[in-house]
Amino acid sequence: MSDSRRLLIRNIGHLVTMDPSRRVLRDAWVLAEDGFIRALGTGAPPRVRGGERIDARGGIATPGFINTHHHMFQNLARAFGPISNLPLLPWLAGHVPLWRGFTPDALGVATRVACAELMLSGCTMTSDHHYLFPRDGSQIMLDAGFEAAASMGIRYVGCRGSVNQVSDIMPKWATQDLDVILADCDRLAGLYHQSGPGAMAHVAFAPCTVFGCSGEHYRETAKLARRHKVRLHTHCGETIPENRDAMERLGSRPFAYMARHEWEGDDVWLAHGIHFNNREVAHLGRTRTGVAHCPCSNMRLGSGVCRVNDLRKAGSPVSLGVDGSASNDSGHMMNEVRQALLLTRVIHGAEAMTPMQALELATLEGAKNLGRSADLGSLEPGKCADLAIFPLEDLFSSAAENPVDGLVLCHARTVDFLVVHGHVRVADGRLTGVDLDRLLAQHGRVARRIHQAKSR
Ligand SMILES: [Zn+2]
Repeated sequence: MSDSRRLLIRNIGHLVTMDPSRRVLRDAWVLAEDGFIRALGTGAPPRVRGGERIDARGGIATPGFINTHHHMFQNLARAFGPISNLPLLPWLAGHVPLWRGFTPDALGVATRVACAELMLSGCTMTSDHHYLFPRDGSQIMLDAGFEAAASMGIRYVGCRGSVNQVSDIMPKWATQDLDVILADCDRLAGLYHQSGPGAMAHVAFAPCTVFGCSGEHYRETAKLARRHKVRLHTHCGETIPENRDAMERLGSRPFAYMARHEWEGDDVWLAHGIHFNNREVAHLGRTRTGVAHCPCSNMRLGSGVCRVNDLRKAGSPVSLGVDGSASNDSGHMMNEVRQALLLTRVIHGAEAMTPMQALELATLEGAKNLGRSADLGSLEPGKCADLAIFPLEDLFSSAAENPVDGLVLCHARTVDFLVVHGHVRVADGRLTGVDLDRLLAQHGRVARRIHQAKSR
């Protein structure tokens, strides 16, 4: 064992384990070996030779947060002009023309920026639902996302998005033929999907929405996903017009339509899941179909409020997603945890969600929705060494009587340290091995190029 890669984290003021009894350990330490937690405890840390050490300075450690819905390319169009004040469908229609000349290089830059935001706000694993594949551009697109995420050192689920139907929102250039989509899904799953505990990269198949994808598209991607043992992701129940349009065009509400095409079960998670009726909530729960709740985006677009507690009570995992940065307009995971608590309380009262329950959405429930309950979501021996370590307090959280509650109830802070698979990816509040100023300058240049496309 002498050549193991070791990391000892000591002086953790509060270790939020998220284990079955939700223990919070005081004055704790964690020992990681080869990316997995070997042991954890309180009091004096074990004597180990070699390896790296972190002094957590009395901070609060949680399992690394898991982001289950995002469109990273959209951070190139944050707070974009007058469409910032529109609801989902006209907002989308206003956005689409920006992306005609979109390239894999631009996706790489957007992904690195998105990962930087997420990592500094406590996230160790993220998905990216990328559905933008301009017909006349490069078809080798999502590879740039996998490469960029790997360069940042974050766990990544590349969701191969797709659109095969022209609609009021999606013009011909933004669609692909189904055989092209399926061939690329097949290629990506073969190339990037890792299996086993500790996997850093997964692939999921992710048709965009019922208004952009045919029934055959849903059915065939489900079939292919199950052959590859990869997961399925799509948007569902985000707005009332989406439900109305599906009734008019398909004679069915979106979830019933998807379920008819094999889109239900514990290998499926749906983004937003706001406008479900009681029957649908029961159906989702019975089949263990998951939901990615995106509180900031839902508030920003005025889409509505996800029935988080009803869904969880019925049996559906409900995790968190920052959603595309153009409808958030930031990818700050800690902020998403806080907003999830506040938004549920707006509708259901102060007792409807505790800070610990909000943290469950970002950790345990995220792991369930991404199929990683066995190795992620809590801090226990044998699980991956993925930790976010926040400062115990700062100006905006000074003297909180219960610092763990304060982590959620006070303002959304950033991490001092972030550990992914036993690697220190943030130290002293800074990303290790990333020149952030240079990255942001590059991001600004690419964004300006994209903004100009609007006027061409
Ligand atoms: Zn979305």
